[in-house]
Amino acid sequence: MTDRACINGCIIPAQHFAACPDYGTQDATCQGCVPASAADGILICHRCRGRLTRALEAIPALLSHLRELTDTHSVRTLKDTRRSVEQGTLAPVDVDILDAMRDLEMIIGLTLHGQNPTAPEILTRARELVWGIIAQLPEIANDHAALTEWWNLTVAATVPDHPGFWTVNRVRNRWPLVDRRRHAGRECVVCDLKYVVIVPPSRGGAPTWYQCTNCHWERNDLDEDGLYAAVYGPYNEREPLVSTGIELDSQRWRRTTTN
Ligand SMILES: [Zn+2]
Ligand SMILES: [Zn+2]
Ligand SMILES: [Zn+2]
Repeated sequence: MTDRACINGCIIPAQHFAACPDYGTQDATCQGCVPASAADGILICHRCRGRLTRALEAIPALLSHLRELTDTHSVRTLKDTRRSVEQGTLAPVDVDILDAMRDLEMIIGLTLHGQNPTAPEILTRARELVWGIIAQLPEIANDHAALTEWWNLTVAATVPDHPGFWTVNRVRNRWPLVDRRRHAGRECVVCDLKYVVIVPPSRGGAPTWYQCTNCHWERNDLDEDGLYAAVYGPYNEREPLVSTGIELDSQRWRRTTTN
């Protein structure tokens, strides 16, 4: 174990130092003041590690999804061309989709050079690049400058000084992918409440994630020699998470390192 705090300033919800006025009270106004520890060998907590990994893992599916949206757009444009031309206007191109694709491609170093690959082709090429980045994640997550840069491009809502940039999570919010999370149906190993959700692997060989939306505990099925896979089991045998209002990235998570 390490005693270093997560450099993102994460706290453990509802845990208080003895000096906190809310220590031992039920109706606390302090949301928690005990910092979350960084995971072994990296600068961020387990929850941040999961958020960074899953944001990266989402890129191939997002790119392929956006590519499909541009296809739909083209079809509609063709159909509407006659009427549009007669009216003296062309159907507007959704510039945001093209900008978002360009920014996601930039993040992973995917160059299409004026080619027009299909959505499945983009998926394949983007996956190779993302797997390479994820393989380097232990080093990235232990390097303050590299980590900050990757975090800003992926998990952050906006990039400082570049508010127009489409970070991965900004793209996910605007064009959400299908929510494949499941209820775990068993208590959290830390807070003992049934708030654990299972996040399925993004591809064969990728980890399944387990996250508690109450206390922010988070691990994957490779951690602790597969202990949590034994506790929570495979995701596909579970109840889907249907609009329960449980937020993947709860408001209680906060950063103190912005700017
Ligand atoms: Zn407190
Ligand atoms: Zn953290
Ligand atoms: Zn918990």
